[in-house]
This record gives sequence, structure tokens and C-alpha cells, in this order.
Amino acid sequence: FAPLVKRILTDGKCLEGGILKVDNFINHQIDPELLKQMSIELVRRFAAKDINKILTIEASGIAPAIMMGFLLDVPVVFAKKKKPSTMSDMLVTSVFSFTKQRSYDVCVAKEFLHKGDKVLFIDDFLANGNAAKGIIDLINQAEAELVGMGFLIEKAFQHGGDYLRGQNIQVESLAIIDSLDNCTITIKE
Ligand code: 5GP
Repeated sequence: FAPLVKRILTDGKCLEGGILKVDNFINHQIDPELLKQMSIELVRRFAAKDINKILTIEASGIAPAIMMGFLLDVPVVFAKKKKPSTMSDMLVTSVFSFTKQRSYDVCVAKEFLHKGDKVLFIDDFLANGNAAKGIIDLINQAEAELVGMGFLIEKAFQHGGDYLRGQNIQVESLAIIDSLDNCTITIKE
């Protein structure tokens, strides 16, 4: 998706260990116009699907997810990274974070993810696919249906996308990074 690719090349920064920093327009400061364009493109790519709920993980997934929910006129649920003490009826799974190098629990109230829900998962990054696998576990626990997974940026060299597509899931990423070696951002054509 050209507008995002262009922005990554001008404002994205490479960090050690294959991490792309996009704090200037996605992860800290947010560019609403670009976010709108990206959300419209993702909606177009999932146009053939019947979706009644958007699911994401706090915090960086919320901005694109809410824009998609607005466009599709469906509710947006964000999985929480800490079990709230006020909620008891939760579905919980464990996710290994590659950027933080540790596992954390991700949970969603049963009240907001049910059997029969047709769920589109949205997140900012797809790397090793651990967050996505955790979400699949939550969707399976709820006996809901995963309709597809949409990401702003996929890092192909970490292969989460290979795994998910191998599971026959429709995975759409608006920019695919082939390599961040030597701190050079190489984007798939
Ligand atoms: P995965 O679970 O697919 O390995 O990693 C996905 C999660 O880790 C995303 O939700 C994102 O927040 C974070 N992440 C992974 N790689 C990067 C990266 O290169 N840059 C940033 N900003 N976040 C990343």
C-alpha cells in the first residue's frame, strides 16, 4: 500500500534486533489521515467477508481497529494485557512478546466474545505471529469464527505470516518488510 510504504521509508527507523520504530506516525504520534487511508484499504481487502466484530490487542492495535470498526459499523473489542480485578468471567491466553522478551497474559471478557461471532483481528505489526496465535486461542475458546487478520506492517523475515497463511487464514498486510539487515529497510514490491 503505497502511502504507508512511502511513510515507512521517510519516517521509519531501524532498531537493533529487527525492530522497526514507527513512533512518528503509528506507535506514539498518530497520523489520522494515513490511518484513515490504511483502514479504508483494509476494509476493501476484506470486503468479501461477513464481519460482526473487530478484535485487537491493547494498546497499539486500538487506533486502526477503531477506524475499521467505524467504517464497518461493528463493535471493536480490545484484548487486555492484564486481567482486570473487577472482571471474573474472562478468557485468558499467554503470549510471548518478542519486543519485550517475556510472556504476558492476554484476556477478553466472555461477555464480549461469543460463539458465532465473525471476528476480524487487526493489529499494527505482524512479526513472529505470537500475538496472533494468542488471539486464535481466545477465538477458539469462545467458539467464535476467525474471518481474517489485517496488519499495517508485516515483517516477513520473522515468518508469522507464513504460519498464519499456512493455516488457511486470510492475512492482509499493508506493507511487508523483507529485511531490516544493516539497518536498511527493504520493502517487498
Ligand atoms: P508477534 O507477536 O507477531 O511476534 O509481534 C507482534 C506484536 O509485537 C505487535 O503487536 C507489536 O506491538 C509488536 N512488534 C513486533 N515487532 C515490532 C516492530 O518491529 N516494531 C514495533 N513498533 N512493534 C513490534
